[in-house]
Amino acid sequence: MSQRANCDAQLSVAIVGAGIVGCATALALAIGGHKVTVFDPDAPGAGTSSGNAGAIVTGSVTPTSTPALLRALPSYIFDRSSPAVLRLRHSLRVLPWFIRFVRAGMPAEVDRIAAALHQIVSQSLTAHQALAAQCGAAALISHEGWLKVYGSDEEFAATALDRRLMDRFGVPHTILDQKAVTDLEPGLDPALCKIGLYQPESGFVRFPKGLAAAYFDGAALRGARHLRQHVTAISRRTEGGVTVHTEGGAQDFDRLVVAAGAWSANLVRQLGDRVSLDTERGYHIAFGPETSTLMRGPVVIPSMSLVLSPMHDGIRLVSGDELAGLAAPPNYTRIRALIPAAKRALPALRDVPPATEWMGFRPSTPDSLPVIGPSPRNPNVFYAFGHGHLGLTMAARTAELICDAFKQGRSVEQLSPFLIDRFS
Ligand SMILES: Cc1cc2nc3c(=O)[nH]c(=O)nc-3n(C[C@H](O)[C@H](O)[C@H](O)COP(=O)(O)OP(=O)(O)OC[C@H]3O[C@@H](n4cnc5c(N)ncnc54)[C@H](O)[C@@H]3O)c2cc1C
Repeated sequence: MSQRANCDAQLSVAIVGAGIVGCATALALAIGGHKVTVFDPDAPGAGTSSGNAGAIVTGSVTPTSTPALLRALPSYIFDRSSPAVLRLRHSLRVLPWFIRFVRAGMPAEVDRIAAALHQIVSQSLTAHQALAAQCGAAALISHEGWLKVYGSDEEFAATALDRRLMDRFGVPHTILDQKAVTDLEPGLDPALCKIGLYQPESGFVRFPKGLAAAYFDGAALRGARHLRQHVTAISRRTEGGVTVHTEGGAQDFDRLVVAAGAWSANLVRQLGDRVSLDTERGYHIAFGPETSTLMRGPVVIPSMSLVLSPMHDGIRLVSGDELAGLAAPPNYTRIRALIPAAKRALPALRDVPPATEWMGFRPSTPDSLPVIGPSPRNPNVFYAFGHGHLGLTMAARTAELICDAFKQGRSVEQLSPFLIDRFS
């Protein structure tokens, strides 16, 4: 058994949420011998964790909020064609989150957050590989790297902060000329690929829902169960442990892990803790399985505000960063408007009609860091949510950290940037 995924002791553990984070944590805890129950009305990995771009970005050390983004924010928000959008109805609600987001974009904060991101993302692929090896899913993770392409020197100049941070943390990356980019991805329009920024060590998952399901199946083989129930309330037991309430009744557990993605804040409040969590909604359009071989790996085209990823269900056009809360219906207008750009970037898509549309809820903290570790008020409650743009990337490493926290509580040094206490 892998040392990386091993935990001690045997406890009954409830996990709320069967996204990629909940499923990875379920497997790691089940490997450690714990009796795991996962609560989720949906199938493992069926929600936000199914529709992402599939990238395990081991070098993603630049937070979302940066000085350059803050300068560009007004044009993002007021430009009706921008993929980043704040819906007016949500703007008052999101204000406290937004103020923290602006603070997180100050230069000193960017450096602090980047160091914390590096700490977790740099270990993300090895953590996934170790966990996937425990459930026969190693083949679901491949190694295509993470490629961003730029059509001009001016566009490329905007990557100065990314390159400074990658240099600072020793993130392996290469600057590619046009020939090297089109050698890697011959299907792309060369005019968009004058310069490439390539992180060769990043991983790729063509079927993210399949990976989450494999993690849960691995846990189930070790005795974990999935109850298709919505958790309506959580209460602390005076004699220790927690009670989980669902429409099916109440059940007691020794420990609880909240991994409910963008829906975690309500549960946190019930437990007496504070967090700033909102959702940055994102969209994709898939072009059908016959297109999945048109590219080698995921490619970011910043000038078009999109990612193209060759997934199991075809090329995915991935985009959007919409602050509109959890309840508003999807608005596909902006992602549909990007279809011509995607077809220009990958001319083989020209005559292919879009097959499916999808929206997911990134669980986003204002400082781009997830919330991982024990509750300050209840040592039997653990948090594993808020992974924002990088939940697939960070899921398996999060599961390892939760295992460490089960053994050592709050004394796990690597947890300190991720503890929920930062919101108190
Ligand atoms: C368009 C897009 C592209 C992305 N691309 C990437 C990428 O390339 N790489 C990357 O690393 N990340 C990417 N992400 C981010 C990543 O997908 C998310 O961070 C990740 O899926 C979050 O996983 P999760 O398990 O925390 O949450 P979720 O997948 O949302 O799972 C949470 C689960 O909790 C359940 N739940 C909620 N409340 C309750 C309750 N009360 N009771 C029971 N169950 C409950 C829900 O039903 C849900 O199944 C992308 C996201 C989007 C939207």
